[in-house]
Amino acid sequence: NATGIIVIGMAGSGKTTFMQRLNSYLHTSAHKQPYILNLDPAVTHLPFSANIDIRDTVDYAEVMKQYNLGPNGGILTALNLFTTKFDQVLGLVEKRATEVDYVLLDTPGQIEIFTWSASGAIITDAMASALPTCVAYIIDTPRTTSPATFMSNMLYACSILYKTRLPFILVFNKTDVQPHSFALEWMRDFEAFQEALLSRRNEGGEDGPGYMDSLMNSMSLVLDEFYKHLRAVGVSAMTGEGMPEFFQAVDEAREEYLKDYKPELDAMI
Ligand code: GDP
Ligand code: MG
Repeated sequence: NATGIIVIGMAGSGKTTFMQRLNSYLHTSAHKQPYILNLDPAVTHLPFSANIDIRDTVDYAEVMKQYNLGPNGGILTALNLFTTKFDQVLGLVEKRATEVDYVLLDTPGQIEIFTWSASGAIITDAMASALPTCVAYIIDTPRTTSPATFMSNMLYACSILYKTRLPFILVFNKTDVQPHSFALEWMRDFEAFQEALLSRRNEGGEDGPGYMDSLMNSMSLVLDEFYKHLRAVGVSAMTGEGMPEFFQAVDEAREEYLKDYKPELDAMI
């Protein structure tokens, strides 16, 4: 039976491009075609064909007009309307889950619309109870080379991990522009990260009040613990670099789901 991959990440991190890459990789590798869900109502051009597309159910521009909303309100409302029908969607997914290897889910551009809404939680939980599911957290690697940005991005990932409790893969995207070795180094070696933090400050690159140093230091201790619980891979959605490593991580995440998440789920029912 299939594995679900929920693609989450900041706007512009490359979620949609990554989805396209997964799709083309699966088509050309030995795997069966994936089953694809698009949950971004505001996307204008989808570079892959989705089996289920939120835009077929709700017209986001119409929702904005009708409820007198701005873009974010429009996207959230569209997602809420779609979620009211998610049991039907799940029925379709479950029917196909025996025929496909992967169910891929793309989420709205603005990360908080999915991660901090009731609808996002409902959809995530429903997926995770229907099939082994993991979260792929996409990171814009070239934009996260400064230690402070890196840390806040990791803290965001951390909060999503604790909220969903699902197996988690950090996907450092855009390695064609910026290799992710610095990130692996910072995750592996707490002192290397602290050093980077300090030298940045001494350069005057990231100035701030004095308490920032001690805040950063204690935060990075929290993160050190967090890193032990996840996998990190570098990919380029553009060139396709890192795809085998990503799917290796998905296999491991699936094992983790079956070992840790599933028993908890069964115990709740
Ligand atoms: P989303 O908002 O997270 O769905 O991001 P998109 O997939 O729309 O991508 C945002 C921008 O990043 C686009 O201009 C993409 O062409 C670019 N992009 C995405 N993945 C890569 C990558 O691996 N390498 C490079 N160089 N650019 C990328
Ligand atoms: Mg997108």
